[in-house]
Amino acid sequence: MISTIYIEEEIANHPRTLAILKRFPDATKISCQRYGEVFNSKSQNFRLQKKQAALILARKHKGLVLPSPKEYAIGAELNYYFSHMLNCLYDCRYCFLQGKFQSAHYVLFVNYEDFIEEMQLLLNQHDEEAVHFFSGYDCDSLALDPVTDFTSEFLPFLESNPRALLELRTKSTQIRSLLKREPIKNCVIAFSFTPDKIARTLEHKVPDINKRLQALLDLQEAGWQIGLRFDPLIYTKDYAKEYSELFNEIFSKINPELTHSISLGGFRLPKDYFRKLEKLYPDEKLFASPQAEEKNNIGYPAEIRHEMLDFCENIITQHIPAEKFFPCHETI
Ligand code: SF4
Repeated sequence: MISTIYIEEEIANHPRTLAILKRFPDATKISCQRYGEVFNSKSQNFRLQKKQAALILARKHKGLVLPSPKEYAIGAELNYYFSHMLNCLYDCRYCFLQGKFQSAHYVLFVNYEDFIEEMQLLLNQHDEEAVHFFSGYDCDSLALDPVTDFTSEFLPFLESNPRALLELRTKSTQIRSLLKREPIKNCVIAFSFTPDKIARTLEHKVPDINKRLQALLDLQEAGWQIGLRFDPLIYTKDYAKEYSELFNEIFSKINPELTHSISLGGFRLPKDYFRKLEKLYPDEKLFASPQAEEKNNIGYPAEIRHEMLDFCENIITQHIPAEKFFPCHETI
């Protein structure tokens, strides 16, 4: 799967670097000074690179844990995100990472201890308040977990800090390391879904909906709290039927008691990212569907957005209490 690994000189002897290199004995190893030399180089084609992405092992120096937008909150006032990884194994057509980054290579920041230290500092600063951390902003939180050991390194921190909550956002079925341990209350595994037909068209290389749902049910069965993320909502002329079927399928199977939160939001992207994606995929219908431009964003026109949000909200709130529902009414 990974045939080339770039390694920053600074972390060449970091124990996590050595453990990862051991997993890929046949990969070509290339030393570099800073990951940006490879990752930010201008003359890269995201689409071509995605076919054979390399892994870059690096150190994150600053901006390790950052405030996250209020619209994405799931019940706390204090919200932060961190990215131990940039980019994703999967290939969703609507993914904003394709607009954000020049490169499709995967960057893994191996200095987890520095992320955890910053998280601890933030908790200490906000004495007695709940602090939520989000890990799936620039990657899928679990897709590479067997390689990165992300969960086994971060969950002990959560265990000893009940005031913190970690959201693992994923479309993956890589839940083995979670099932091996006792569940903890302050970790939410949040699965993203779109209806089957949309997923088949737009979510390439992603485990299908049945497999994702099974992973979710296995976690609930083991006592873990899960989240449901219907973001982005994708418009089609049959969206009402497609989303009704998806909600029926999910809500007929999950345990509402162990469902921490449900959020949803319409498809929207920063304008620059949207234009870049249009160029990458000129034949993609998603980018030719009705769109409106507001401030710096592009998304569905207000009437479609509100219609879809209201439709979905009506069904979802029949299944879970209002305090677990977090619609993102962000204007585009
Ligand atoms: S799973 Fe998420 S991060 Fe990965 S490609 Fe799809 S939208 Fe992007």
